[in-house]
Amino acid sequence: MNRFEYVEAGTLPEAIARLGQDDGTRVVAGATDFLVRWRQGAWKPRAVLSIKRIPGLDQVDYSPAAGLSLGPLVTIRALELHPLIQQHYPALSQAATTFAGVQIRNLATVGGNICNASPAGDTLPALIAYGAECRLIGPDGERLVPLEGFLLGPGRTALRPAELLVELRLPPPPPHSGALYVKHSPRSAMDISTVGVASVVTLEGGDGVCREVRIALGAVAPTVLRARSAESLLRGQRLEAGVIQQAARAATEEARPIDDIRGTARHRKAIVEALTGRTLRSAIQMAQGASVPFRTQRALAVEAML
Ligand SMILES: Cc1cc2nc3c(=O)[nH]c(=O)nc-3n(C[C@H](O)[C@H](O)[C@H](O)COP(=O)(O)OP(=O)(O)OC[C@H]3O[C@@H](n4cnc5c(N)ncnc54)[C@H](O)[C@@H]3O)c2cc1C
Repeated sequence: MNRFEYVEAGTLPEAIARLGQDDGTRVVAGATDFLVRWRQGAWKPRAVLSIKRIPGLDQVDYSPAAGLSLGPLVTIRALELHPLIQQHYPALSQAATTFAGVQIRNLATVGGNICNASPAGDTLPALIAYGAECRLIGPDGERLVPLEGFLLGPGRTALRPAELLVELRLPPPPPHSGALYVKHSPRSAMDISTVGVASVVTLEGGDGVCREVRIALGAVAPTVLRARSAESLLRGQRLEAGVIQQAARAATEEARPIDDIRGTARHRKAIVEALTGRTLRSAIQMAQGASVPFRTQRALAVEAML
């Protein structure tokens, strides 16, 4: 393990200035990914810059007009327990309940989950399905990037040198919306996902016609991806069993999984089909007004193989 200088930033300008001076400095938030990579010797920074003490980066703000604003230091545990997130962005809270154990959830941050850019990152399918945007600040100023465009590949993001993720913005969910995230993994929440699927459905009204739908697939491609052809089969349609089945099959065509120790590509495609169908059916029920207690949603959201 290499030795490094440890620095705590007190403000954003201080953090950006420090990163700009030394490209051997690595940012940490909860450090749960950092510690694993550092111990493995995969990351050998000259210095580690903690942003944990910068005030205001752990804020959660919601309004019906503006939607949700999340600071990058919001922990996975806060996503799980925040009543407004459970109410308005349930798939995000469900994803958080499937994430590691409580100790890790108390340290791990949403910003770290995004910037780590794992195709299996549990918050990513729900955030993408809700249309999240990333606000980034660096030496050249500020910009907004859709999360889908921010994730470039395993461990690769659109962050420029000395840039930081400082906020996530999610638009307000329209009326008659419902959502579910399901994680399929070898050992329930204590392992990363073999496949994770989030579906967010908005209906025209009580008649069951689909106004908008977003389906995001995790762990089946180099980045979390939208199942766009599945979505286009559903938009404008009455969401009955046949069309849901067709969409679930279309999603398997869009998935590009690999074989690894958690499952074969063929097995992963079969799970994509099952979970796309299941998340759509539950999301539709919720959009039609079915009241599903959060503890039931939590039980629906994690599926262990054993
Ligand atoms: C035992 C264990 C279990 C785990 N289980 C899961 C799981 O079930 N699901 C899952 O998705 N993940 C899991 N993880 C991975 C990890 O906990 C998450 O990815 C976590 O969200 C990372 O957040 P962090 O704050 O700890 O990130 P850190 O380790 O601090 O940082 C991660 C990366 O993001 C960068 N970074 C952090 N914040 C910013 C920022 N604001 N701006 C720019 N760059 C930034 C860092 O430089 C680093 O490259 C697990 C990890 C462990 C150790």
